[in-house]
Amino acid sequence: MEKELTFEQICKTIDLTAPTMDNYMYAYHFEQDYYHISVPALDRFRIPSASFHNVVETLRTFVYPNDFERLQKELDEIQTSDCCEHNLQYRWMSKDGAPIWISCRGTVIRQNGKPLYMMGCVNEIGERPKADNLSGLLRLNSLSEIFKRIIPGKETGFLLRLGIDDLRGINARLGIEYGDLAVQQTAECIQDSLEPGQEVYRIQGDEFLVTDYSKGTYTDAVNLFRRIRRRIDACMQQNHYEVLFTVSGGILMCEDIEDNSYSTIMKWSEFSLAQAKNKGVSTYARYSTEAYMLSLRKRDLLVSLRQAVYNNFEGFQAYFQPLFQPNGSLIGAESLMRFSSEEYGAVSPAEFIPILEESGLIIPAGKWIMRQAMALCKKFQSVIPGFKVSFNVSYIQFLNGNICEEILKTIKEFDLTPETVVVELTESGLLESNHHFSKKWKLLKENGVQMALDDFGTGYSNFHYLNELHPHIIKIDRSFTVSAMQNHEEYALLGILRQLAATLHLSFCIEGIETPEEFFQMSQLHPDYCQGYYFGKPCPSIAFIEQFANVNV
Ligand code: C2E
Ligand code: CA
Ligand code: CA
Repeated sequence: MEKELTFEQICKTIDLTAPTMDNYMYAYHFEQDYYHISVPALDRFRIPSASFHNVVETLRTFVYPNDFERLQKELDEIQTSDCCEHNLQYRWMSKDGAPIWISCRGTVIRQNGKPLYMMGCVNEIGERPKADNLSGLLRLNSLSEIFKRIIPGKETGFLLRLGIDDLRGINARLGIEYGDLAVQQTAECIQDSLEPGQEVYRIQGDEFLVTDYSKGTYTDAVNLFRRIRRRIDACMQQNHYEVLFTVSGGILMCEDIEDNSYSTIMKWSEFSLAQAKNKGVSTYARYSTEAYMLSLRKRDLLVSLRQAVYNNFEGFQAYFQPLFQPNGSLIGAESLMRFSSEEYGAVSPAEFIPILEESGLIIPAGKWIMRQAMALCKKFQSVIPGFKVSFNVSYIQFLNGNICEEILKTIKEFDLTPETVVVELTESGLLESNHHFSKKWKLLKENGVQMALDDFGTGYSNFHYLNELHPHIIKIDRSFTVSAMQNHEEYALLGILRQLAATLHLSFCIEGIETPEEFFQMSQLHPDYCQGYYFGKPCPSIAFIEQFANVNV
């Protein structure tokens, strides 16, 4: 290659063009053992100065140690061979010492066969592109700079994070091209809906972020979301519904932002979008610190619960609440799960049972309480023959575990009559009753286990389930008991339900009786069993035995 510029001229060119470039030009004079790189590289890498002598030793201070040998070999080869090109991908250390992948390319200028100098360019290859050619929008990494403009606590302004609902499913069902079209159309519809001062960026596959740092209020954010949604609908109509999809939106108001760090803002806006998606498709939600803290608590609680399960159920306890006949005789007990830890104290079952169910931990925990229940049952039967113990089984346990087989096996192990074991199923889970579930339910019934429908009167298709499942017992939820105490018609309805149970030969259990008045009113309905604080609060098995072992004896 013919020499056209002097080395000094090259260095001058590097300095002149540096402010206009995202990558870093450099020049390396072999004979003078001198290196020059564009100044912005100093902001990024652990380079001591833009120009330095003693090149190889200085390189050693910012080249990632594991990669230095490879670089040195390459530089030696330039000296000893006649190659005219340098092309190596390796790592430099960032200012804070993190390894950053770079691609270093250069042209070697030779004189009489000997390398004189090399000039070229360093690119960061780990860096994500700043624009997105599919959506035509700017990309995420331009955002970290932009977030710095947010003034925490400012009364107006917002971020609206938009996500295409189930883009992964769309891609899988209809193909990537179809998914790409959805992304393009969403980007266009968002852009068409923006007002002055609002900008949109593409974050990742199926998500976009609109920023409004000026005057936008919460109502403006909601209106913007609705405008985008209408625009997408109109777009789909125009295209004769060739591409069908919906979007959800999470709104983060500047007034709710406490610190404007990139990771916090991304985390919170992501959370608000997740909240919207939890509500269902094509809807929006506003970030709230309270909901966010609750989700963190839920996450941490899950960790504690998981540890407890694997630590031989340390922290779990089985409580028992008595079941009486209206004539005052103790007939059995319902077992109820309790959980406490040093960190959280006693946690309400209303909080931890759904976490166990969502995580699947209810399968081992449910087996554990079943054993506790049967153990107490066996103990009590020596004092009260025929004493029944019930335990709650989630729909999830029926669907995913082998709980039915476990129940039958454990009944044998404890040598119990199956008729004294009661499985309580909460009705809410039944809404999606399926064949597998019906089979398991039948299996238990055929083996003599007593089946109860819990929380009766709180769900939707009660009567349908009665017919389909033929439980032995229906348990009336406390909310029904309370409203029947206050409302004449509700009380009449409860009476009809009671008659229906009698006609179908089902036992009728009224839960949540707290006061003598409630007991008086409810006993007019002649329930088979009663349960509630009036008869006894749930307590550990030792306290239960102390309190009730002499009853009826
Ligand atoms: P549930 O099965 O309907 O249990 C009855 C709930 O009513 C219990 O709440 C009990 O403490 C409460 N209760 C009983 N009598 C009274 C009363 O007179 N007044 C009032 N206000 N409440 C009364 P708990 O123990 O908090 O359990 C709540 C729910 O958590 C249970 O409702 C059940 O659905 C679930 N759960 C508890 N233990 C288990 C378990 O081992 N497995 C499963 N899958 N769910 C469980
Ligand atoms: Ca129950
Ligand atoms: Ca209940």
